[in-house]
Amino acid sequence: MRKLATIQRINEIKPIEGADAIELAIVLGWQVVTKKGEYKPGDLCIYCEIDSFLPVKEEYEFLRKSSYRKMSDGTEGFRLKTIKLRGQISQGLLLPPGVLGKDSEKYEVGSDVSDVLGIVKYEPPIPAQLAGEAKGPFPSFVSKTDEERIQNLVDELPKYRDSLFYITEKMDGTSVTIYLRDGVFGVCSRNLELMENEENTYWKIVRQLDLENKLRSYGKNLALQGELIGEGIQKNIYKLRGQAITFFDVFDIDKFRHYDYNSFVTIIKEFGLSTVPVAQESVKIPETVDEILQMANGNSALNPNANREGLVFRTVGEKRFSFKAISNAYLLKYEE
Ligand code: ATP
Ligand code: MN
Repeated sequence: MRKLATIQRINEIKPIEGADAIELAIVLGWQVVTKKGEYKPGDLCIYCEIDSFLPVKEEYEFLRKSSYRKMSDGTEGFRLKTIKLRGQISQGLLLPPGVLGKDSEKYEVGSDVSDVLGIVKYEPPIPAQLAGEAKGPFPSFVSKTDEERIQNLVDELPKYRDSLFYITEKMDGTSVTIYLRDGVFGVCSRNLELMENEENTYWKIVRQLDLENKLRSYGKNLALQGELIGEGIQKNIYKLRGQAITFFDVFDIDKFRHYDYNSFVTIIKEFGLSTVPVAQESVKIPETVDEILQMANGNSALNPNANREGLVFRTVGEKRFSFKAISNAYLLKYEE
């Protein structure tokens, strides 16, 4: 589960040129515009990440004009997204720990306080063909496809200064996992296993790509994981006709382990399928979050007229360290 609101320390306060009422606060690898003088370096705060959905309460009313949304289940609230103020990117919201009342002292740095504050993740409405009907939860014998954001890994990054990474384009679609285990074939979205249905976009493309026969003839307990993209999915920034899957993982169910980069590419090609666009195969990566975020900006390999969503970085070697860097240019342009 993504931690949306956590207790953090202010790393740094930076002035904004030409602005006298606001300044920049740096928390983890995130930058947030705040009222001048509200926080000092070293202060504790509650950091609410982008995609936080704050409940309708008097203290958040200042967000109404820019951020009021209603989710498909009817819940109303305020959605935090990437904005630009005085030419500065601002991501998320800082709250004083005092809003937790007298309990505020019992929390440590890193504690998740989303529940206490009634903060959930903002989920945009999903079209019916994509939502589908659940057959069950996501199977426990495959690992989920979630990726951590680079901004939350500032302390981890120095450990990988000498490591080699492969870098792929992060595709703006929806996660799909297709598995064969002990003769049982299944299709899953990010968090659910889906019932087969002729109307369902996931199952349609799985049939179109003949994935059940491909996995059966291979004969191992295996899962293929990728991003379903195209018409009717997110904003289809690639302007594709129809749908496609770009694969980013092959998972060995018996060993509960991902295939390494080379084996993954080999098998996806053997199956006659496509991988996500590969930007780099074996490189060292920059040392700072800012430089990595800069790298994430760029055009999509699938459509040079579209700002790509970002990049996913993974170590080439045995033990996987993996994260995503979402392009701020993309967020400013497409986030709603
Ligand atoms: P959100 O958290 O806002 O719902 P999301 O659905 O994009 O965003 P994230 O957790 O941000 O999910 O990112 C991880 C997802 O990125 C994975 O679940 C996977 O579906 C998708 N993805 C797209 N391209 C790639 C790629 N090249 N490598 C790995 N994952 C990728
Ligand atoms: Mn996504």
